[in-house]
Amino acid sequence: MDAVIISVGMELVTGLTVDTNAAWLSSELAAVGVQAQRHVTIGDHGSALAEEVRRAAAENSWIVVTGGLGPTTDDISRQAVAEALGVELRVDPDALRQIRLFFETHGYRWSESNARQAAVPEGADLIPNKWGTAPGIHARIGQSEVFCLPGVPREMKAMFQAAVLPQIAPSQVGPVLMCRSLRCFGAGESTIGEQIADLMKPGGEVVVGTTAQEGMISIRLVARARTPALACGLLDARSAVIKDRLGGLVFGEEDVSLEAVVGRLLLGRASTVTTAESCTGGLLAKRLTDVPGSSGYFQRGFVTYANEAKVGVLGVEAQIIQDHGAVSAEAAAAMASGARRSAGAGYALSATGVAGPGGGSESKPVGLVYIALASSDGCEARDCRFGQHLPRAEIRDRACSVALDMLRRKLLEV
Ligand code: AMP
Ligand code: MG
Repeated sequence: MDAVIISVGMELVTGLTVDTNAAWLSSELAAVGVQAQRHVTIGDHGSALAEEVRRAAAENSWIVVTGGLGPTTDDISRQAVAEALGVELRVDPDALRQIRLFFETHGYRWSESNARQAAVPEGADLIPNKWGTAPGIHARIGQSEVFCLPGVPREMKAMFQAAVLPQIAPSQVGPVLMCRSLRCFGAGESTIGEQIADLMKPGGEVVVGTTAQEGMISIRLVARARTPALACGLLDARSAVIKDRLGGLVFGEEDVSLEAVVGRLLLGRASTVTTAESCTGGLLAKRLTDVPGSSGYFQRGFVTYANEAKVGVLGVEAQIIQDHGAVSAEAAAAMASGARRSAGAGYALSATGVAGPGGGSESKPVGLVYIALASSDGCEARDCRFGQHLPRAEIRDRACSVALDMLRRKLLEV
């Protein structure tokens, strides 16, 4: 059976929220060989949802609805599914108890409208929600089955994996699709594309494509095979070829971040890192500490925005700034060396540049960032020209990624 994915919410059709649920569900379903025929997005209109559910049910589909299960009057999915089934809603006493328990254990204040979430269409089952308050609904309509899940992505994903996928996957016959992505940093999409051009030709048993976002390149592999194990084998083999060709450009798989990879390497070498940041204003320290367990290798960082701070806190010689400017390879190197000394860390990363939109000059345009890495081997500095067209936030983010990647490569040499 194919699938129809229906996303419900005013915030989706007005453009306030991007519908990420449908995309995620499609790839999860594809992994077990179920193809999504279409994504339907509708506002909080009960009759429109009932009609879409009926239409999809007439096509013999797996129907996954997300959103509209909450406690307020604009949450219409329960009523709409009852309407599509031609039955009434009833309050499930077990569900009511569980919702009350969730409120008690989390110390939330109870209000009567929450009881609405315990309503289920007659003859339908509840899908337990251990991650939030609104339980889901599972009902059969003819040959089709409809699963209603909350809109909150975190709850939706957990419930889908715990309760929905186990019902869909075993009944699926036919080929499965499996996806994998390899994350690369340090070269442009075109360079990477040229190195794997032969593998990207259409028609093979593994389809390979690339996407670029904020300096990161993802290589996406999609394998079609009779069983998940065969598909997985195809992905393993193709990934190995790509990694072999691209070498150090590939830093991880799926949604692993550079900071997580750097963290693992630092822990493995029992070393530490510190930061000396000017134009990134603490973002590099933020990204390093986004990783759980980062206290194992990050003790402190320095935000030294003004020249006096670079001199006073990091011990950068005033003469260096006078001769070369605060945005210079020399200043970046002195910042990193000073931070490493002051923090007593194994490595130090620094960034100083022009994040824009103002403040650029002909010799030092917006987007120019000097990044340095200090270690026991000395200090290396690099100049990056991210381009004047980029917004401030992206220049800062890319500078951090380059810094993290410099450290990653350094740690891989050791
Ligand atoms: P709801 O379950 O409809 O009350 O949705 C709760 C919240 O989940 C919304 O305010 C959105 O922030 C988020 N959400 C709902 N549907 C989606 C979706 N299709 N994709 C991404 N986020 C969503
Ligand atoms: Mg909603």
